Amino acid sequence: MAELILGQVLSYHGDPFVEGPEVVRLERNGGIVMLGGQIVATGTGDAMRKAYPAATVTDYGNHLISPGFIDPHVHYPQTAIIASWGKRLIDWLNTYTFPEEMRFADPEYAAEIAARYFDLTLANGTTTVCSYATIHPESVDAFFTQAQKRGLRAFAGKTCMDRNAPPGLQDTAKTAYDDSKRLLEKWHGVDRLSYVITPRFSPTSTPEQLSALGALWAENQSCLMQTHLSEQTDEIAWAKALFPNARDYLDTYEAHGLLGMGGLYGHAIHLEPREVDRLVEVGASLVHCPTSNSFIGSGLFDMQTMVARGLRVGLATDTGGGSSFSMLRTMAAAYEVAQLRGVSLHPAQLWWLATQGSARALRSEHKIGNIANGMEADLVVVDLASTLAIEQATRRADSIWQSVFPTIMMGDDRAIKAVYIGGNLA
Ligand SMILES: [Zn+2]
Repeated sequence: MAELILGQVLSYHGDPFVEGPEVVRLERNGGIVMLGGQIVATGTGDAMRKAYPAATVTDYGNHLISPGFIDPHVHYPQTAIIASWGKRLIDWLNTYTFPEEMRFADPEYAAEIAARYFDLTLANGTTTVCSYATIHPESVDAFFTQAQKRGLRAFAGKTCMDRNAPPGLQDTAKTAYDDSKRLLEKWHGVDRLSYVITPRFSPTSTPEQLSALGALWAENQSCLMQTHLSEQTDEIAWAKALFPNARDYLDTYEAHGLLGMGGLYGHAIHLEPREVDRLVEVGASLVHCPTSNSFIGSGLFDMQTMVARGLRVGLATDTGGGSSFSMLRTMAAAYEVAQLRGVSLHPAQLWWLATQGSARALRSEHKIGNIANGMEADLVVVDLASTLAIEQATRRADSIWQSVFPTIMMGDDRAIKAVYIGGNLA
């Protein structure tokens, strides 16, 4: 039976970075009709009531109804080590990340953390994530099992590393290929799940492993490929030292078949001109992880240039190098990072990045990240006056976006009133 939900409905009619914030529309008294997991009609609440008189109705009043948040770069195995103190990237990996990832050889522990991770992300209104697992195939099974149980559209892959990691966290070029292929065949395209080919980053893979994964990607072009790129300056120097023939960091991927459309490059802060040119030429996606970049001290992503060059840019938490599970907090951090570069991102642009922008980065914008007929019904209902601090700040709002911005800057899971996954309440 059709279900009608009423509230302030947000939808996108273009790219706010290209066409301006007015292409992001808020229908004050809007309605969305959902049936069979999809959105089948949208319009004013009154029009929807007339068109679907038999639909069950839930009225969310002044709450904002948005596409669910999409987080295209996370490490679900780092859930338990989020907000660990005092390290930069390489130290962070050795001190906190690798010992924790070691524990995912145990399928029970992997299942426990995967369940906890999705509980946390759903509580924060995030309906799709793209995650790194660990080197253990069990960690991928745990992630997809939990995502499937919840009916989520979800992306993940086995993280591959065959050097510069503890012995218990290394595979080989051959096992990385074989395990990834087996997991891909098991999960890719099953229900709403997608497998992602996942070399962690050049410093932890030999050229042989990168080539093996490049070959796997060439054989499976419907898969995305995710990795890290140019996060910290000492990491870039390390990558160049390990690959003395590479022209730059990106070339360590390019030379092994790991640059292309469907490539998701996390961070991409300190890019050289050739790297930007090549990323643009192939139509790759970048993922901006602002809480992580501040927390680990990586640097300030150049949103303005990357968007102006036509790159697909998603916005992500990078849990647990990032310091929050909340895409609201992540939008706030993106605003702050841009401010430090002298650019004030519009609230419409921030919201778009956390939904449609991230869907575009995942090349799934025709399925998720917007409210329109035929889209999958993954939605978040947001209270725009969820705390006293936010409510009093919205009282003076003289525009729709000024009534949304305090929730972006100060909101958290208390603002999330309901989440719909494929039309069902989560
Ligand atoms: Zn990461």
